[in-house]
Amino acid sequence: MALDPPTMLTITIALAAAAALYLAIEWRSVREPSLLLWSAGFATITVGSTLALLRGIGLLLIGIWFANGLLVVAHGFFLLGVLRFTQHRLSRAWLLMVGVWFALLLLPAGPEWSKVMLMVNSLLVALLTLKASFLLKPHGRSLSVGAVQLRYVLLIHGLFYVAKAIIAIAPGTLIDLATFGGLIIQVSLVEGAMAIILIALSMTGTVRYRREERIARLAARDPLTALYNRRALEVRATHFFKEVSPARPGALLLIDIDNFKLVNDLHGHIAGDRLLIALSEMMRAVLPERSLAARLGGDEFVILLSAATSERVVALGSQLREQFQQFALQTVPTPQAVTLSIGANLFDQPPASLAALIEQGDLALYQSKRDGRDSIRLVDRTLVSSGS
Ligand code: GH3
Ligand code: MG
Repeated sequence: MALDPPTMLTITIALAAAAALYLAIEWRSVREPSLLLWSAGFATITVGSTLALLRGIGLLLIGIWFANGLLVVAHGFFLLGVLRFTQHRLSRAWLLMVGVWFALLLLPAGPEWSKVMLMVNSLLVALLTLKASFLLKPHGRSLSVGAVQLRYVLLIHGLFYVAKAIIAIAPGTLIDLATFGGLIIQVSLVEGAMAIILIALSMTGTVRYRREERIARLAARDPLTALYNRRALEVRATHFFKEVSPARPGALLLIDIDNFKLVNDLHGHIAGDRLLIALSEMMRAVLPERSLAARLGGDEFVILLSAATSERVVALGSQLREQFQQFALQTVPTPQAVTLSIGANLFDQPPASLAALIEQGDLALYQSKRDGRDSIRLVDRTLVSSGS
């Protein structure tokens, strides 16, 4: 089968229509507005490519100027989708592109007409595409790794159009838009079909990846305090334990609020929630690097401390206890003090499991509660090794 321009255009129409539909269906489940803008971009390519076929029957204004203008509009939609995805805004100066395109209508007919038309068209497409690619450049942690693929696909597509613009005005290049004459136009039709597939797939991949990341992040966090939940701590503890050695011991601090029910009973559940949030913020503030904090449930929290000594554990525990007691006293006064009981467990070998470590910490915590609360107790090693 000969890949003549009308055949290539027909393939492009089919691919762009499929991509528009695919992204619209994806939007129905993901509800990310970028997908709709990108879908509109491909729908515009479908219409533009269909109109481009009309130059074969002599309709040059619609078949060339209008059809190529729609190609620019389509890339404008792609950029709008990226702007939406990355939460950026665009300067109004970009609207000048519309003026440039209308100015082309004043271009006198002649041998240079096709060249200038193709050059301007390629430059506008390149500018929009490269801008979109640039916006997807990761900054900090705000963009997912998934966006990298779309960024590079757009970068290559944009650079292709820069090359096309340069080739268009290079002396001696044959270009006749009316008959699709010239190698660059034929190559461009092949590139276009490939780009549709790659761009559409990268777009859905980008959105899906971010959504999955968001879901994973939410699933790992306790919704009230945004600390890790028990399951997430278990996953991270496995890695944490691997780094534990006699030279680098670890510690687990099991923390339970004393008389917390009184806060709920006397000041309401919302005040109780606020106190839980305040404690989580205090924990975050004192947490050393490479350490982990989690809420196990209710008023029970845990800290996994790295490079720990019993002095450091006691110092950190005392700091938390003092800060918390002060805060609780000022914000939610109660007949019996609302304080912290802490059971701490030091270990210099990777423990059997987090659950075993917590179980031992619980014994120390219970001791603190039994001895009148508001204290930190370290696990008695002799009790642990005898299996109690
Ligand atoms: P103790 O000194 O023995 O620790 O007793 P306590 O009053 O602190 O009560 P306990 O630790 O036995 O129970 C925790 C209470 O925390 C039970 C429940 O009503 C309350 N609680 C659990 N989850 C939440 C929550 O998300 N928000 C609020 N406000 N309260 C909660
Ligand atoms: Mg409690």
